[in-house]
Amino acid sequence: IGPSPHVSVDGPVLIIGSTGFIGRFITDACLDSGRPTYLLIRSGLTGHFKATIINSFQEKGAIILHGSMDDRDIVEKVLRERKIEIVISAVGGKNILDQLILVQAIKAVGTIKRFLASEFGHDIDRADPVEPGLTMYNEKRKVRRAIEKAGIPYTYICCNSIAAWPYHDNTHPADVLPPLDRFHIYGDGTVKGIFSTFFFFFLSFFKFSTLGGGSTGLAYFVAGTDIGKYTIKSMDDIRTVNKSVHFRPPSNFLNINELASLWEQKIDRTLPRVTITEDDLLHAAREMRIPESIVASFTHDIFIKGCQINFSIEEPEDVDLSSLYPDARFMTIDECFNDFVRNLVENPKLFKQASGNNNGSIIMPPTNQEAL
Ligand code: NDP
Repeated sequence: IGPSPHVSVDGPVLIIGSTGFIGRFITDACLDSGRPTYLLIRSGLTGHFKATIINSFQEKGAIILHGSMDDRDIVEKVLRERKIEIVISAVGGKNILDQLILVQAIKAVGTIKRFLASEFGHDIDRADPVEPGLTMYNEKRKVRRAIEKAGIPYTYICCNSIAAWPYHDNTHPADVLPPLDRFHIYGDGTVKGIFSTFFFFFLSFFKFSTLGGGSTGLAYFVAGTDIGKYTIKSMDDIRTVNKSVHFRPPSNFLNINELASLWEQKIDRTLPRVTITEDDLLHAAREMRIPESIVASFTHDIFIKGCQINFSIEEPEDVDLSSLYPDARFMTIDECFNDFVRNLVENPKLFKQASGNNNGSIIMPPTNQEAL
């Protein structure tokens, strides 16, 4: 018999990967929630950026512990001595399998009430990217099976895409501006799905692929702050024990042409659209440039194969976040793009970067603040 999945209201949380791209959002939200928050930080190279993040977390009340997730003795000691109830891992693609040691430590301690492994994307048991993305998913699947075999209470966070322009060669698209020179449109980028129960029934009955490759172009875009906020909200909810929680906010369900048009409205200009075909994406994946080729394989899976929408949410193993929290309000893409414009106006240097070569002509910042 495993531990009771009921988390105490003030049960301590251990976060691993807090200085990473997704980990930062989760850590911020956890600290905002007021729970005792411990951060396991690897020693070694601590650049200015990482040091600044750690300081800001400390100022908000985080307790910093030094060590690596693959050091089982240290992890077990931390879990026992700090009476950790929830463990969240947000390690990056290179370290997914290190979590197998963490799973062993959690099992040995036996008192952890919830484990959230490093997922934060697609439902990796259903999505089926080409290589090299497949290797990463196989590693994540291995971690899932180890957790289930060990009988550790878990929640898998399937939050879909982070709200930003979905560059096919950039791991962290929310760190950079949407394009200012040209849009890359994946497939034909136009067909909008109907996200009703009937639609999912239809898809599962007729097989999604028969709808025609290159015609899906759709994704759910979720702001990083909402990934953090709703990860923390669902981590101690008894209704999410041993389930995959799917983030599918209807308001943030867009095809890539809609996304492009919205950005054009924000910057008050029209940009050329360049089609990136299925073959282009597969070619980029085959090049095996890491991490760009991994991102290309995921982009192919999302925009060509429709991996975010080609399955229905099935009880009891799945739960839709919006059904758990009907009042949940997600930041819209419109609001996210406003933030990007604000960044542009405040940091004119970003213009040169995001404008690319653009035949030598640099697009000037929008001056029309009314759009904000
Ligand atoms: P990052 O590479 O940005 O950060 C990884 C973090 O994990 C760093 O803080 C790193 O610390 C830490 N870490 C790695 N190994 C260890 C270890 N052995 N012990 C302790 N800490 C460790 O990761 P991402 O944010 O890119 O990825 C996190 C998850 O989110 C992944 O599962 C990824 O697939 C997913 N993701 C989802 C996206 C989406 O759009 N939905 C976008 C990007 C990622 P250090 O500083 O020491 O290296």
